Amino acid sequence: MELAALIRERQPCVVLTGAGISTESGIPDFRSPTGIWATVDPFEVASIDAFRRDPERVWSFYRQRIGLLRDAEPNAGHLAIAALEERGLVRAVVTQNIDTLHSRAGSRDVVEVHGSIRSAMCLACLWTEGADEVLAQLEEHPVPLCRHCGEVLKPGVTMFGELLPAGALERATELARGAALLLVVGSTLEVWPVAGLPLEARAFAIVNRGPTALDDSALLKIDGGAGETLGAVVAAL
Ligand SMILES: [Zn+2]
Repeated sequence: MELAALIRERQPCVVLTGAGISTESGIPDFRSPTGIWATVDPFEVASIDAFRRDPERVWSFYRQRIGLLRDAEPNAGHLAIAALEERGLVRAVVTQNIDTLHSRAGSRDVVEVHGSIRSAMCLACLWTEGADEVLAQLEEHPVPLCRHCGEVLKPGVTMFGELLPAGALERATELARGAALLLVVGSTLEVWPVAGLPLEARAFAIVNRGPTALDDSALLKIDGGAGETLGAVVAAL
């Protein structure tokens, strides 16, 4: 199998994942034509301006979303990437996903460039609160409050109009620059600045259903599902 050979020959390999890897866990891709952003304006429920204007509305959206994502399970694609890391064939995973499924599948070095649902944070004193406590507060209040200063907590997810988490993009860029192969899985490479990471690596390959912005520059493009394709890679290595 060509992709398995590339991974074996071009070390170190770093994986970059997007929404497409989690659709097989039943998590819809918000940006797809049938995704939620086709009917709900993200600037109304998932932007930093919306959070400052109407945190209750933003939290009613995220409360539902966090519940949905916590119910999802890692799929064969997440498990295959964790297995490749275990075998020393993947150095780290950079992900645009906030669902924490890579960590739950067993991946140890995961860079979550858009944050995650694992926590919420206080913009005033920078206290970080875990999701369990946040959800418990949301059972009784419309918004969770900082236990230290009483401010409304913000979901630990990067919102529209917000900068990426400090350090995450720097680490992702450093990993990409050091990679002999960047393996893109389930991303159409349209959301910057993450979309530029493959161009920082010495070479890159893509596994994605449908076209991506960088198909023409990839060493190899496989138009297929993450679980099936990466499962075959693990079996071939
Ligand atoms: Zn605080």
